[in-house]
Amino acid sequence: EAGKVPPTTPNTQNGLGPATASGEHMNATFVTLARNSDIWEIARSIRQVEDRFNRKFHYDWVFLNDDEFNDEFKKVTTSLVSGKTKYGKIPTEHWSFPDFIDQDKAAQVREEMKEKKIIYGDSISYRHMCRYESGFFFRHPLMLDYEWYWRVEPSVELFCDIDYDTFKFMADNKKKYSFVLSLYEYVETIPTLWDAVKNFTAAHPEHVVEGNSMGFLSDDDGKTYNHCHFWSNFEIGNLNWLRSSAYIDYFTSLDHAGGFFYERWGDAPVHSIAAALMLKKEEIHFFNDIAYYHVPFTHCPTGEKTRLDLKCHCNPKDNFDWNGYSCTSRFFEVNGMTKPEGYEKEQ
Ligand code: GDP
Ligand code: MN
Repeated sequence: EAGKVPPTTPNTQNGLGPATASGEHMNATFVTLARNSDIWEIARSIRQVEDRFNRKFHYDWVFLNDDEFNDEFKKVTTSLVSGKTKYGKIPTEHWSFPDFIDQDKAAQVREEMKEKKIIYGDSISYRHMCRYESGFFFRHPLMLDYEWYWRVEPSVELFCDIDYDTFKFMADNKKKYSFVLSLYEYVETIPTLWDAVKNFTAAHPEHVVEGNSMGFLSDDDGKTYNHCHFWSNFEIGNLNWLRSSAYIDYFTSLDHAGGFFYERWGDAPVHSIAAALMLKKEEIHFFNDIAYYHVPFTHCPTGEKTRLDLKCHCNPKDNFDWNGYSCTSRFFEVNGMTKPEGYEKEQ
């Protein structure tokens, strides 16, 4: 056998456990909603997630689409992911107008929003997307096998190594939802969302937990919404929470209020309000060490030691967290947390 060179890297395809010696493999998956045309943008995201994290852990990746994925999409993404890949078609009833929606009224709103130049204001598919991410992705048959998810969108970037299992971190620390960036929502897209939330909490006071993060959402103890939300294009979270009767009641109530179609409610404020009211504040985690970009905002840790230790390649000047349009300061205040090293430099 002389001269035969042993492979230096194990074949990690298809569900061999994590590469770390200590790690227990969590019941977790990445999840991406995408169109076939997103192939090269999602390829970039996958490559970064793999290089910075998943090549060490080999978690699965579920791709969901309102259409069938084509062979090229499957071939390219499967070649990039070090865990198993799964491809699902979204059932039509989860990506269409529910029968209680007045389609003429919805069409009129899209026309008005187009004139006001509200981003995605005239788009039907964007509304289906927001409603799907708000109420259905976690119930897709392919997702039912998992307890934890990490949402990844096309064209995002990761700037630092992630050397530990973030899913295990969530479980060990009793976290249910997490974020890296937060900001204020465009009020034109959600004028009656808070009224719908108040109708829900009045009907279901049992779903609002004590020790929640109302202070993140409201400056007057719940009378009005300050439009703060966690940016949901990045999320690591617990699927069982989203599948709980509390969350399902919440989504169903908002869905019937009609604002996914009569306005343009985003899944970011919908998830964020749920997390802030229906989870204890300790159950929401800010991942300072996950440096991330989705157009047009960056989260880059301000502490130099963190950046050097984690081999980060982001410019800390691009960090959005301590800027006036971010809600992350408010999150720190609500939770009595001390801001990370170097934050003053970026204010
Ligand atoms: P933005 O981040 O709010 O500008 O919205 P994106 O265009 O990034 O869409 C959010 C997510 O939904 C991304 O993962 C997209 O790939 C996905 N997405 C958006 N519209 C559609 C659609 O019509 N069909 C499918 N299958 N995915 C979509
Ligand atoms: Mn996006």
